[in-house]
Amino acid sequence: MAQKKQYKAETKRLLDLMIHSIYTHKEIFLRELISNASDALDKIYHASLHNEVDIDRTKLQITLEIDEKARTLIIRDNGIGMTQAEIEDNLGVIAKSGSNTFKKGLNEEDQQSEIDIIGQFGVGFYSAFMVTDKVEVISQSAKGGDSVKFESEGEDGYRIEVIDKQPIGTTVKLHLKADDEGEHYSIYLENYHIKSLIKKYSDYIRYPIKMTETQKDYDDKGEVTGSKDVEITLNSMIPLWKRNKNDIKDEDYNSFYQDKFNDYQAPSKVIHTNLEGALSFDAMLFIPSHVPQAFYTQDYQAGLQLYSRGVFILDHAKDLLPDAFRFVRGLVDSPDLSLNISREMLQHDRQLKAIASRLEKKIKGELLGMLKTDREKYEAFYKNFGLQIKYGAYAQYGANKELLEDLILFGSSKELKMVSLEEYVERMKEDQKEIYYVCGDSLAKCDALPQTEWVKEKGFEILYLVDDVDEFILQVFGTYKEKPFKAINQGELNIGSDEEKKALLDKAEANKPLLESLKEALKDQVSDVRLSSRLKTHPVCLVSDEGLSLEMEKILSQMPEGAPGLKAKRILELNSDHPLISALSKISPDKVKDYAELLYSQALLIEGFTLEDPVRFSNQLAQLMIDASK
Ligand code: ADP
Repeated sequence: MAQKKQYKAETKRLLDLMIHSIYTHKEIFLRELISNASDALDKIYHASLHNEVDIDRTKLQITLEIDEKARTLIIRDNGIGMTQAEIEDNLGVIAKSGSNTFKKGLNEEDQQSEIDIIGQFGVGFYSAFMVTDKVEVISQSAKGGDSVKFESEGEDGYRIEVIDKQPIGTTVKLHLKADDEGEHYSIYLENYHIKSLIKKYSDYIRYPIKMTETQKDYDDKGEVTGSKDVEITLNSMIPLWKRNKNDIKDEDYNSFYQDKFNDYQAPSKVIHTNLEGALSFDAMLFIPSHVPQAFYTQDYQAGLQLYSRGVFILDHAKDLLPDAFRFVRGLVDSPDLSLNISREMLQHDRQLKAIASRLEKKIKGELLGMLKTDREKYEAFYKNFGLQIKYGAYAQYGANKELLEDLILFGSSKELKMVSLEEYVERMKEDQKEIYYVCGDSLAKCDALPQTEWVKEKGFEILYLVDDVDEFILQVFGTYKEKPFKAINQGELNIGSDEEKKALLDKAEANKPLLESLKEALKDQVSDVRLSSRLKTHPVCLVSDEGLSLEMEKILSQMPEGAPGLKAKRILELNSDHPLISALSKISPDKVKDYAELLYSQALLIEGFTLEDPVRFSNQLAQLMIDASK
C-alpha cells in the first residue's frame, strides 16, 4: 500500500518556486539527475572496491530512454540505489548539503532573484519539477532491503510503496509537462536535443551515458530499406584535462580550445596544470592569439568554466582570474567543489580563492617564461593584451604591483624597442639612481622631444610612455626594485656634472634681467622661466614642477567629469647655449611680451597642447617675419 506523505515546509516552498519558475535554464535538470546517477555509480564502485558488493564494475552505466508517446524521459543507473528510509530522507526533504544556501536565497524579498538563485545553484533532484508533472523513482539499494517506488506530483507531497524486487540501482522516470505558450517541454523528448545537453553538461561524466537510437538503412536511391536499434554512448567520458599530458598533442589542445571557446584561431599558449594534495584541481587555460571581439568593452564575458569531477557547474567564473588576466580562457575542474555553487558563493569560497591564487601565479610564471625565452611571441601577446595587464597594474592603487610589474613592457629610447622594467634596471648606468621616462603620443614623438636629446647623450635610457595609463602606473608603483621613477620633463634633472651645474648658475645670473622680464610677461601662464639643465640643441621647452605632470593634466582634462583646478605647474625652460639667448637679450622692451608668448606657444605645441588663441600666435609670427625682413 502506498503511503502518502507531505513534504517538509521548506521543501514545499522550494518546489513551489521550481514549478512556477520562469527560470530559463530549465534544462539543467538533466545535468542534476545525471550527476546524481554518477554519484550513485561512484558509491557502488567504491563499495565494490572494498568487497562490500559484488558487481561487474565495467558494466556501470547510465541509460536514457525516451518514450515520445507517453511523454516520458527515463534516467536509469545501476548505482548504489536507495532504501525506503534513504528515499524519504533524501528526496522527502531538501538535501542537507544545499539547504542552508536555499534558505538564504528564499529569504530574499525579490521573487525574481530567488528564481535566479535556484537556477544557478542547481538543486539536484527537485529541479526535475521544473519540467515534469510527475516524477517516479524506483530504487533498489545495493545494501539489500525492499525495492521501493516513490512518486510525486510536486507540491502536494509524495507516495512511497514497496514493489516487486528490482535490479540494484535507481530509475527516475519523468513525465514531462504539456507544451504551453511559454515553454516547449517536448524538446526533452527529442534525441538530438538530449544528446546536445549531455555534450554540454555531462560529457566528462566517467561512466557511459547510453541511449538506444533507431538508425535507418538507405539504398543507393536514398530510400529507407530498413532500420535497426543501436545503443550509442553520448559522452566522451575522459576529459582532455584528465589525460596524461604526454598523450595530448598540440592539435588536441587546439581543437578542444577552438571548439569549446568558439575561436577560429588556435591559442597562442596552452597552460595545462594538475595539482594533487590538500588542494586538488586540474586547470586547462588558453591565451588567445588575437584580441577577442569586444574584449576591451563591458560586453566581453571573462572568466573560466568550472567543473566538479567532470561535471559542468558554471561558465564565466570571474573570481578565478584577476582582472589583469581576463583574456585567459579555459576551465578548472576540482573534486572539492560543490555542484551547488553559485556566483555569489564563489567569492566566499576558500577553496576557490586558493585555486585562484595558484592560477594567478601559474599564469604569471608562464608569461614570464615566454618573455624570457620567446621574446617575439611575448611581444605579440603584449600587443594584444598588454593594455589589460597595464589596467590591472593601475587598478586599486597598484595593489597588483608585485604580480604584474615584471610583465609590463614600455617603449624605450634604446632603438625604440620595448623594454621590461627588469631589463631597464639591469642595464642602468652605475651611478644612475632613477628610472627615467617621458610621455608622448608615439615612440617617435617621445624620441623627438627636446628634453630627450641630452639625457640620451649622457648615456641614460628613457622609457617612452605612449598609453594614457602608463604614467599613472608609474605613479601608483612609486618605485621598481627601490628605484624611483623620474619624468625627464618634470622638476629638476640632476644628471649634469658639477662643472655643468656651476656654469648654468653663472649663466642664469648673467641673464637675470632677461629671464625676469620674460617671467613677468608670462606670469599668468607659467610659474617660472629659467635656463634649462636638460636641453642640448633645442631652444626651448616646457616642463612641469614636481606633482602633477603635463601629461596627466591633459588626460584628466579629457575625462568626461573633467578636473577643473588640477593643473600642472608649468615652467618654461630656455637653452642657455642656444644663440636665441643672446638674440633675446637685444630685443626692445616693447617686444618682450610678444616674444615671450611666442616662446611659450612653441613650447606648448611641442608638448602636444593646443593653443588657446592660434590666430594671435599666427599674427605674432607674421609680425616677427616682417621685423626680420626689415
Ligand atoms: P544532492 O545531490 O545535492 O545531495 P539531490 O536532491 O540531488 O541533492 O539528491 C539528494 C540525495 O538523494 C543525494 O545526495 C543521494 O544520496 C540521493 N540520490 C539522488 N539520486 C540518486 C540516485 N540516482 N541513486 C542513489 N541515490 C540518489
